[in-house]
Amino acid sequence: MVVRVIPVDPFDLVIFGGTGDLARRKIFPGLYRRFQAGQIPAEARIIGAARGEHDDDEFRGMIAESIAEFVPEARRDADSLGAFLQRLFYIAIDARGEQGWAQLKQTMRIDVVQAYYFSVAPALFGDIAERLTSHGIAGPEARIVVEKPFGRDLASARALNATLALHFAEGQIYRIDHYLGKETVQNLMAVRFANILFEPLWKSEYIDHVQITVAETVGVDGRGAYYDKSGAMRDMVQNHLMQLLCLIAMEPPYHFDPDAVRDEKLKVIRALDPVPSHDIVRGQYLAGSGEGGYLEHSENPQSRTESYIALKVAISNWRWKGTPFYLRTGKRLRARASEIAVTFREPPHSIFDDAEGWRENVLVIRLQPDEGMHLMVMIKEPGPGGMRLTQVPLDMSFAEALGPEAEDVPDAYERLIMDVIRGNQTLFMRGDEVEAAWAWTDPIIEGWEERSDRPQPYDAGTSGPEDALMLMHRDGRRWREIR
Ligand code: NAP
Repeated sequence: MVVRVIPVDPFDLVIFGGTGDLARRKIFPGLYRRFQAGQIPAEARIIGAARGEHDDDEFRGMIAESIAEFVPEARRDADSLGAFLQRLFYIAIDARGEQGWAQLKQTMRIDVVQAYYFSVAPALFGDIAERLTSHGIAGPEARIVVEKPFGRDLASARALNATLALHFAEGQIYRIDHYLGKETVQNLMAVRFANILFEPLWKSEYIDHVQITVAETVGVDGRGAYYDKSGAMRDMVQNHLMQLLCLIAMEPPYHFDPDAVRDEKLKVIRALDPVPSHDIVRGQYLAGSGEGGYLEHSENPQSRTESYIALKVAISNWRWKGTPFYLRTGKRLRARASEIAVTFREPPHSIFDDAEGWRENVLVIRLQPDEGMHLMVMIKEPGPGGMRLTQVPLDMSFAEALGPEAEDVPDAYERLIMDVIRGNQTLFMRGDEVEAAWAWTDPIIEGWEERSDRPQPYDAGTSGPEDALMLMHRDGRRWREIR
């Protein structure tokens, strides 16, 4: 299957923080891949901006190094790289000062799409937004892209929304959650809403429970100081896991349109019940496999920040009453694996006397590695000797289904940046969604802070704290293996 590439309009894209880690690891390699795919028009320009003094050629050299580091050798070639680098420019700009803004104003064209990517610390978002408008740089159709974290609680998210709203309309603000850019996540919507098969069963009458797992093998490493102020709840659940939950739980939108989709997601977040403390397990990893434990990376030897969290979440609406959603995410776990597993209920009556081997139907949506979906179904075990049942997967691996072209499927950042240029906000979080997510998250965090709960230690390389197993066992269920 050939992956179609639909060109975008000419644009000027400014990457604030263009010399930073995210820009070098994700944004520029992603733009290069889109360039190779022929999606970036000849008139497009990409302008890096940061305080450091560099000329265009030095900056191009830095980005060439990043591409050599972060794009596999087989996927790059000197000709396309040379042509791509000619699209890059650099302006030294201080987000908090006056340096560089006049030059940026002179550089930006008014007759092409203008996009400004804020790949800088969130504390600078307001400064940049203010200067883009006070210097008359951003046109009325300009778009701004803001990175996570979007606030650390409801109050700070509201304040950030209010600051951005002073300078840009909601329709111009693209809040990135890169999970929404993943191919499988969008496929989830295609599977749910482009097939008649699933939607009639997509409710608590037929679905026993849903598990959402985002497991990482890496620890906090050099980011201990940042992570200590965040933790797994703020860093992963409030945004990424919440977005996945919304896509599973939302009602069918009337159209695949940004506000229609985001209205439905918002309704899910508002229907989430508060989570009692007995439905939460927090953990902190210990040293193992030659690497230090969480506390050794933290600046605070008494840190109570969680590197793991598991929660049982209830949605109070007609569709989901009685179907728990179990969420878990953590660092230094057994394997790097992200998946959503939807477990269906038992058939109301079994006609097979010997139902040995019977297992529930499970729809597994795998985000990484091996993006794809499979549906576990029961069949007859082959051969004579009566009716014995066995479970097999109906498999849809994207790599297999698309063949070698699967390599050309854009990664999350590539897709999202192209969506910004196209002006499509469907896969970006709206301000009210982010605030609703914090409104649900805040009391959970306040609860454990008030009780001074300590996270439970867990061994690195395992599937997390023992109590997380109990969270499921006491309901007669179990987590899927992390692998
Ligand atoms: P970083 O490596 O620290 O880079 C920060 C960038 O901002 C540098 O280019 C820096 O260059 C520039 N900068 C700092 N102060 C500035 C100022 N006053 N005016 C203009 N430019 C300034 O940070 P990062 O890891 O790339 O993260 C950037 C954003 O993405 C953050 O919001 C982060 O939370 C988010 N994010 C990062 C990742 C990741 O994997 N790195 C993942 C998700 C989200 P100068 O010092 O030369 O100015």
